[in-house]
Amino acid sequence: MSDILKRSISEHATALAKKEYSSVDLTGVFLERIERENSEINAYITVARESALASARESDERRACGEARGALDGIPYAAKDNIAVRGLRLSCASRMLENYVSPYDASVISSLRDAGAVLLGKTNLDEFAMGTGTESSHFGRAKNPLDTDRVSGGSSGGSAAAVAADLCSFALGSDTGGSVRQPAAFCGIIGLRPTYSALSRMGLVGFAPSLDTIGIISRTVGDCATVFRATAKRDPLDSTSAHFPTESLNGALPADIRGKRIALIREVMELDISEGQRIAHSRAADALRELGAEVIEVSVPSLRASYATYYAISSAEASSNLARFDGVRYGMRADDTESLEEMYVKSRSLGFGDEVKRRMMFGALILSGDYKKDIYENALRTRARINAELAEAFSVADLLMLPTSSGYAYRAGEFKDGLFDAHAKDDLLCTLSSLSGLPSISLPCSTVRKLPLGIQLIGRAFEEKTLFDVAAHLQCALN
Ligand code: GLN
Repeated sequence: MSDILKRSISEHATALAKKEYSSVDLTGVFLERIERENSEINAYITVARESALASARESDERRACGEARGALDGIPYAAKDNIAVRGLRLSCASRMLENYVSPYDASVISSLRDAGAVLLGKTNLDEFAMGTGTESSHFGRAKNPLDTDRVSGGSSGGSAAAVAADLCSFALGSDTGGSVRQPAAFCGIIGLRPTYSALSRMGLVGFAPSLDTIGIISRTVGDCATVFRATAKRDPLDSTSAHFPTESLNGALPADIRGKRIALIREVMELDISEGQRIAHSRAADALRELGAEVIEVSVPSLRASYATYYAISSAEASSNLARFDGVRYGMRADDTESLEEMYVKSRSLGFGDEVKRRMMFGALILSGDYKKDIYENALRTRARINAELAEAFSVADLLMLPTSSGYAYRAGEFKDGLFDAHAKDDLLCTLSSLSGLPSISLPCSTVRKLPLGIQLIGRAFEEKTLFDVAAHLQCALN
């Protein structure tokens, strides 16, 4: 039965419809595997065994009455532990929220509940989604199932590890500056950062709201499209959410991608990128040419500035966003304090880990005095310039293509303290789409010493269909 764990959503949907197995069977097999493997991989922080089996039973009952709800009915999945699920702990992998139980569902969770999907549990992450290796988690790091000495990426490293280790069928993550795409690349699977505002953020604990998106991690591009179709919708509970024209996703996969214009970015090749990743990048470009696409080159002169811009804006937003965790409004409260001020200081000092503190301090600094003009406002201007450069690139290209990370998954502990160096190399490749709100998808391209390397496509806003079509053909060709 264990081979069924590798099946795609559509294969499960067919098998469930034919009554080859039930959702309770499928959920049971995933739960058994989680019980065996999770203590080593540490992909899940919370396993929701009872509620998963109850949802699976409901799905089977619907099916028995001829009321199955579509491709996701009965399919087991996982959600990153910064996404609210009613009745389950919502820890953000932080001591600050270690015992917090969410009283409501995030809107994406409600959408998946409506579609009949079965939630298996909540996955590990970097504390408050800040990091690239799931090493800043209060619950210990998540390991890469392909090599447990290495990181699974971050911050959605638990979600990526869960999909790659066959501990769920697909998973939700969040992507502020690459946190879905980079872990997907490190684990050899698919990661989608949707157009900003396409998926509601209601119930996602904010890190940097002008950059945060909920993303999808899956085994195949088709699975990713299925989950996207079920979750992209305007949500009155999130004022930044937009109407997504889901009709645009309806057409079948085109027979080929002839005539699509895919642009490589000239400045990418000037970056510090490993040899293996360079080869992977040109291999993907060759594959696109063979598929009939036209591969062109564009220039995004501000590419190098995108990391510093991202870091300034995300830290500034984080410092204001996380101010609410003060032991009164939200979060743990320190004992034995004598004044209000001491209680605030002690609660925040004990509740947050180093990485989160570093970002909040940097964010608060650049929002104050002259730094505001020199750094924060400058970053906003650079963001506008990057958007203008990308708009120009998209006047000649349908998609942009670049590596997802500078190399394969690094060893745990390798970069623990060298924050800027460590993150800059990888985050730099992911921040263009984050700053611009454009959708992007990472797919596995090749392997070096059995470790996967990812390639990333960026599309126009609300044109996920083009992204899925090209990614599906490319995934096929690269396999
Ligand atoms: N690695 C990036 C950071 O640490 C991205 C985080 C994210 O997308 N949540 O900021």
